Amino acid sequence: MRASKYILPTEKENPADAVVASHRLMIRAGLIRKSSSGLYFFLPLGLRILKKIENIVRVEMDATGALEFELPILTPSEFWEQSGRWSVMGKEMFRISDRHEQHYSLGPTHEESFSVLVKPMLKSYKDLPVNVYQIHTKFRDEIRPRFGVIRSREFIMKDAYSFHLDDESLEQTYQEMRTAYRKIFQRCGLKTIPVQADSGAMGGSASEEFMVVSPIGEETLLLCSSCGYNSNSEKTPFILQNDSFPKGPSEKKEVPTPNKKAIDEVAEFMGVRPEDTIKAVAVKNGKESLLVFLRGDLDLNENKLKSALKWTDLEMVPESDLQAAGLVPGYIGPSDVKSPFQIVLDTSIRKDSPYVVGAGKDGAHIQGYMPSRDLKMEFKSIDVALTREGDPCPNCNKPLKAEKGIEVGHIFKLGDKYTKAFQIQVLDRQGKAKTLTMGCYGIGVNRTMATVIEQCNDDKGIYWPISIAPFEISLVTIAKGEEQETKALEFYDALKNEGFEVFWDDRDLGPGFKFKDSELIGFPIRITVGKKFFESGEISIYNRKKDKEEIVPFSGFDDLISRVETLRQELFQELLEEQNS
Ligand code: ATP
Ligand code: MG
Repeated sequence: MRASKYILPTEKENPADAVVASHRLMIRAGLIRKSSSGLYFFLPLGLRILKKIENIVRVEMDATGALEFELPILTPSEFWEQSGRWSVMGKEMFRISDRHEQHYSLGPTHEESFSVLVKPMLKSYKDLPVNVYQIHTKFRDEIRPRFGVIRSREFIMKDAYSFHLDDESLEQTYQEMRTAYRKIFQRCGLKTIPVQADSGAMGGSASEEFMVVSPIGEETLLLCSSCGYNSNSEKTPFILQNDSFPKGPSEKKEVPTPNKKAIDEVAEFMGVRPEDTIKAVAVKNGKESLLVFLRGDLDLNENKLKSALKWTDLEMVPESDLQAAGLVPGYIGPSDVKSPFQIVLDTSIRKDSPYVVGAGKDGAHIQGYMPSRDLKMEFKSIDVALTREGDPCPNCNKPLKAEKGIEVGHIFKLGDKYTKAFQIQVLDRQGKAKTLTMGCYGIGVNRTMATVIEQCNDDKGIYWPISIAPFEISLVTIAKGEEQETKALEFYDALKNEGFEVFWDDRDLGPGFKFKDSELIGFPIRITVGKKFFESGEISIYNRKKDKEEIVPFSGFDDLISRVETLRQELFQELLEEQNS
């Protein structure tokens, strides 16, 4: 490809709305342009990268025996009604209607569509297991689209769905997908950690997210270096340390605490630790209102609460609603709870120990409050606290380490939620109708692309892993006059005819400008044929990732080709070794 015939709108300046490296560099390198909030145009160079990632995903999925389909993006509301998700998916699902007042969503995910599609094709246990997938556009009306294509409103996803007669078969495919995912991300140059995850609105039992550790990650991962337990903090159980007991006064009495509402203030004022207090958090969904009581130093993990109570949404109760229910915000204790509120007591609270709690009136707390003795109302005891760095590992009790992570893929065991709703059954070996069990497996293709840039950039720009680089080689020539231009073309033809992917910067620009562009875009190998070549027969071979240039005498195209091929092979080899280390 010749740069002079390409559209290559590189930019010197960072876009004003880009706060992360990948977003800045994708725009500056001319890979994408913004259309509007959460929507991006892909330009030719960017599209080549996206297609290469898609291709790696496709090859590895096909290698597991999964079958590729393509389904309509518009999905009829009846499909969603049948699974019960039309009302559950909320505002994140784009909904439209046609001229006949038929309703549709722009598919955010395709469990329903694939269920409808495969149901009539699966008749006997002999047809199983199957794993079907597509690589296609998804739509999600994200509350906060951000970080460019990392969280956009329209994006490419590989989504796969597997169907099985029993759990053993599901487990086998789940593990195959797990292995395939690691390979896919490894080939893209990403080191991923599978972490246990919350199954959310999708329903189902087991799920793991594939995370790339990055400071810009929106997820918090809790990792145990001792036993290898890894989980998303949305899901991590909170383990109460065996020797952690409240140390506050045990004599029960009311203590005036004027203007002390926040836990830290109350604790300091009363000379106790935040761990010796109990705090209240009021939440509600459309139907129920709850007062959740947690140990004072802990925060509520909304996901664990939603998951435990099977709530699909959750919001904080405004102070005015608390006041209307006769409660005094800042001073709510477990014994003050009134209808319509129900009580959840987090498992971090020791029921036979004394705590400092709100007294239910302005400016007062109670010390020595013992839930087993003093809490008369019925309550649910659930683990709903947010586990933090340093808390014990749920598996081996050693302290957990926290990291930020970007989720690039997700695998789920869905169980029979959809197969029941769509009555997907086959005849088993005994000739009896059996409802299938199901798994689903997603990879964000554009997010993967951006995540690679987050991991592979320096002050000059991007350095692409060779496997997904827009072109493997950039050829920069600085030729003056017809004779030199003919020679430059010979270099291009020689490399191209050898089958290399070459991007030839033949533009009528100075070397500095061309070098800057090639380093910004991040071609892994650059060959320069310029002044040195025409004066003393030397060319340069530059390794973008190492930022290392080698000047070599040109001794014919065979030699050049073998040098380039050696470097190319090295880069592929390094890629696999790095991710394995
Ligand atoms: P997140 O928690 O980041 O919103 P999710 O749990 O909603 O992700 P899934 O429903 O599991 O994501 O979708 C599968 C994959 O699709 C994700 O692992 C991610 O790589 C990608 N993905 C999800 N939402 C977006 C988005 N808004 N923009 C780009 N990629 C996305
Ligand atoms: Mg999401």
